[in-house]
Amino acid sequence: CGIIGYTPAQTDPNILDVLLDGLSGLEYRGYDSAGVAIADSSLSVYKRNGELSELEAAVPDRPVNGQAGIGHTRWSTHGPPTDENAHPHTDCNGSVAVVHNGIIENYRDLREELEAAGHEFESETDTEVVPHLIETSLEQGADAETAFRRAVDRLEGNFAVAAVCSDIEGVLAARHRSPLVLGIGDDGYHLASDVPAFLDHTDRVVYLQDGQFAKICPSGIEITDESGAVVDMPVKTVEWDP
Ligand code: GLU
Repeated sequence: CGIIGYTPAQTDPNILDVLLDGLSGLEYRGYDSAGVAIADSSLSVYKRNGELSELEAAVPDRPVNGQAGIGHTRWSTHGPPTDENAHPHTDCNGSVAVVHNGIIENYRDLREELEAAGHEFESETDTEVVPHLIETSLEQGADAETAFRRAVDRLEGNFAVAAVCSDIEGVLAARHRSPLVLGIGDDGYHLASDVPAFLDHTDRVVYLQDGQFAKICPSGIEITDESGAVVDMPVKTVEWDP
């Protein structure tokens, strides 16, 4: 039901706290499960059915270094609320993790195609096709951004998606009929379904438009349109009365 992403300006030992705080800022939207993925030299995924307190109990009780992270509060539409169906979802190699808000209407066809090609699924969600589609392009030699773009191009429905890959610094995201806003902070860059997720860090935002892609990385944000051309979007200051 809500997604977040965070790329600190420098590797952040408190990345888990930033992500968990971000998810608590989205709790008002309602959810049944929650999870996070953190990219450093490899990907770590923690996810649990139930309240955020369940996820908090499942994450390591020590600092976790991260160059990028994503998080999710889930309101199940495809597959019951279980640990396996909670997001993030990963590919077979564990090199890509994806969170998704919305519904992928053509997921059955995509899943059949991917299973026929040997991909094994771990959940009943519509979402899990996305990491496997990304994996397919990565195996064909595409870079992570191209692989992400190709995967999103295959999706029908309404969605905001975000992904971390073990071989790039940063978070990739796209939206199609689901909200997504980027936050420009002094400590790094954020993205979320709604601004309360990162208001503690920044009130400077860019509202992504339908069909646009975004990459947040330590050096900045880049927004591109469907054709891949870079677009210059206005930075706004949000006024928010909590
Ligand atoms: N359709 C996805 C699922 O059931 C995402 C639901 C949501 O927006 O939280 O897992």
